[in-house]
Amino acid sequence: MSTHKPATIAVRTGIESDTQHHAVVPPIYLSTNYGFPAFGEVPKYDYTRSGNPNRGLLEQALYELESGSGAVVTNCGTSALNLWVSAFIGPDDLIVAPHDCYGGTYRLFNTRAQKGDFKVEFVDQSNPTAFDAAIAKKPKLILLETPSNPLVRVVDIAETCKKAQQVGALVAVDNTFLTPVYQKPLELGADFVIHSTTKFINGHSDVIGGVVIAKDAEHAEKLAWWGNCIGATGTPFDSYLTLRGIRTLGARMRVHEESSQQILQYLQTQPLVGAIFHPSLPHHPGHDIAKKQQSGFGSMLSFEFAGSYEQLKTFVSNLKLFSLAESLGGVESLICHPATMTHRAMGEAALAEAGVSHQLLRLSVGLEDAEDLIADLNQAFTLSKEGC
Ligand SMILES: *Cc1c(COP(=O)(O)O)cnc(C)c1O
Repeated sequence: MSTHKPATIAVRTGIESDTQHHAVVPPIYLSTNYGFPAFGEVPKYDYTRSGNPNRGLLEQALYELESGSGAVVTNCGTSALNLWVSAFIGPDDLIVAPHDCYGGTYRLFNTRAQKGDFKVEFVDQSNPTAFDAAIAKKPKLILLETPSNPLVRVVDIAETCKKAQQVGALVAVDNTFLTPVYQKPLELGADFVIHSTTKFINGHSDVIGGVVIAKDAEHAEKLAWWGNCIGATGTPFDSYLTLRGIRTLGARMRVHEESSQQILQYLQTQPLVGAIFHPSLPHHPGHDIAKKQQSGFGSMLSFEFAGSYEQLKTFVSNLKLFSLAESLGGVESLICHPATMTHRAMGEAALAEAGVSHQLLRLSVGLEDAEDLIADLNQAFTLSKEGC
């Protein structure tokens, strides 16, 4: 187990590990298969679905960053979630998941439950009565997503893990929004961490990937077996790129957060901005829990546009440094209108229940200069005021 800080682990994993040419940066191994050193002697890597040096280094970086004992890198975040349920749940078992979880997670769990693979219950995890009632049903697995998307709702990880332990449930935290730089769920009692590495971990919006990290070695072994069995593992090239992306994780997360703080201050002065959602704001419902369990507040934020829907469209259309796109966590700033984009499949009733209004906008604050980002928001607000 590495005793280094996250930024150091992110930069150093695999550096100077090449024994053939002493390359400082680990080379990429695209070969699908590896020779057996002698008859009956099984090498560390034999076939890339089950193992590959580049994927191995990425897995090491990720489990060391999260203080786990092993990890399986998958071809996307969704397949990481699918691998987790495939390995640990059966037809009579129940999963409890957040009612406002990532849309693809909702679709995956719901569809597999309808096929009879397992049972699922989606609950409002910020409502203690509803959450306790679900835990009392003795689920096999509990998924947390904190902070959640797009309202950055915060759930108490340590508290949930204590309750889960009493009923023998295993807990996974989808840590995509904060990364181990700002939140370490395994140290708070969780059994697994899941990431869509597509987002902050790779950080450059050019690789789709995922990972499941286990606290216990036994669970990690089971995940590796299942990853190979169902063919969920990531490719060498994607692993190489993602490890390259991880090198700057510490520096990137710091700038994402610094800039988001400046943008939050600016937004609070704007008449066309209504409610603002970010764990750093003292009035945010999860502010105290976030202070306790996170080492940073993260950079994902959303706010309600306080003008007309037409003005909202004018605002979004005139932004030049925030691309209108889904996904998050890349170097480039993005703006998303969840009701017509990421969350459109939910339907009006479910959107209303999750508190996602048509006035809500989500920002993924990138690494452009913060002053330029604020100037861009400002010119778009001015145009949308003039347009009214
Ligand atoms: C994007 C995302 C996923 C799904 O990951 P993919 O890489 O798109 O399959 C899961 N959870 C969260 C929180 C996400 O943001």
